[in-house]
Amino acid sequence: MSEFALPIREDLVGSAPYGAPQLDVPVRLNVNENPFALPAALASAMGQAVAAIAPDLHRYPDREAMELRGALADYLAAESGVRLEAEQVWAANGSNEVMHQLFLAFGGPGRTAVSFDPTYSMYPEYARDTFTRYVTFRRRPDFSIDVRAAVRQLTDVRPSLLILTSPNNPTGTMLPTDDLLALLREALAINAVVIVDEAYAEFRTAGTPSALELLGQFPNLVVSRTMSKAFGLAGARVGYAAASAAIVDALRIVRLPYHLSAVTQVVALTALQHAEVLQSQVATLRAERDGLAAWLADAGYEVVPSDANFILFGRFADRDAVWQALLDQGVLIRQSGPPGWLRVSIGTAEENDRFRQALTQAPGTRQEAAR
Ligand code: PMP
Repeated sequence: MSEFALPIREDLVGSAPYGAPQLDVPVRLNVNENPFALPAALASAMGQAVAAIAPDLHRYPDREAMELRGALADYLAAESGVRLEAEQVWAANGSNEVMHQLFLAFGGPGRTAVSFDPTYSMYPEYARDTFTRYVTFRRRPDFSIDVRAAVRQLTDVRPSLLILTSPNNPTGTMLPTDDLLALLREALAINAVVIVDEAYAEFRTAGTPSALELLGQFPNLVVSRTMSKAFGLAGARVGYAAASAAIVDALRIVRLPYHLSAVTQVVALTALQHAEVLQSQVATLRAERDGLAAWLADAGYEVVPSDANFILFGRFADRDAVWQALLDQGVLIRQSGPPGWLRVSIGTAEENDRFRQALTQAPGTRQEAAR
């Protein structure tokens, strides 16, 4: 047999697949999942819904997923008071796929995407896959965005895509509406599409507006959402976007045919029928988050104010050692953000207690040496 030189793309050589460790430990607080199992009644309704369509699985699913997109539009109307048509909502396998499709449609060779570091680490991967140049602007030390500087930089860089993450991962910080408006105006002036990634929107402080409210004013705005977090449906892989029908039509061009399975569509529809039960967990998680943030601050850590279901805290001279000390006690969190910081997802009350105990026991947990 002749030797085979794997003809992988040069730019992929040496790259590792993305992903946090999936370890089987008692307390998993590393990927911002919802810690609550689905209520038994909902789990069984999902099983029945799947059984009901199983005989039809010899057919391809509804390629346009219209029923699901209509149900998502209804959910958004209830959640943020913004009434959209089903044609303005798009659904895919996680918001990762939604944003990948946005890069396929609006990025590409010779084009640039901009975001603000530190932020979600998948964005550069969407850019790599689509041959889009990826440029990051730095946040201030408190992780806010210097909008005046950003507007100047945008005029120079002229991206076709701008990603704003609110609440941001891994910082948990929200983008104030005035800042969002200034960035949207500038993006409109340079003809850029703005993705506001609201994966964690349901955890935001009550009364804070969603970018959905600005869809009527900005034809360049896409709001990306997911069922992976507040809905506790990470395993089903359902993300969605709200935008103008013209932007959604562009996504319909680049999506693979029948990308969203019939099983996924009925599972998501069933979850949406039980949205209220699932949303009641959001209040619990918010209260747990605020309690844990106060505890960490009392214990002398720096804590970034969070509107999400996780907290960035620090700072540690050797965060890897602290991460390992927690893991040795069965608690898995995430080395995320700039050096010195760690990110913990909010768990159940019991899991958060286990985290507190483990952190108290971990050597090297004071932050002074990192300063
Ligand atoms: N956006 C942000 C900011 C995230 O943190 C995540 C998941 N960690 C996603 C998008 C993607 O989530 P999913 O594909 O499960 O919708």
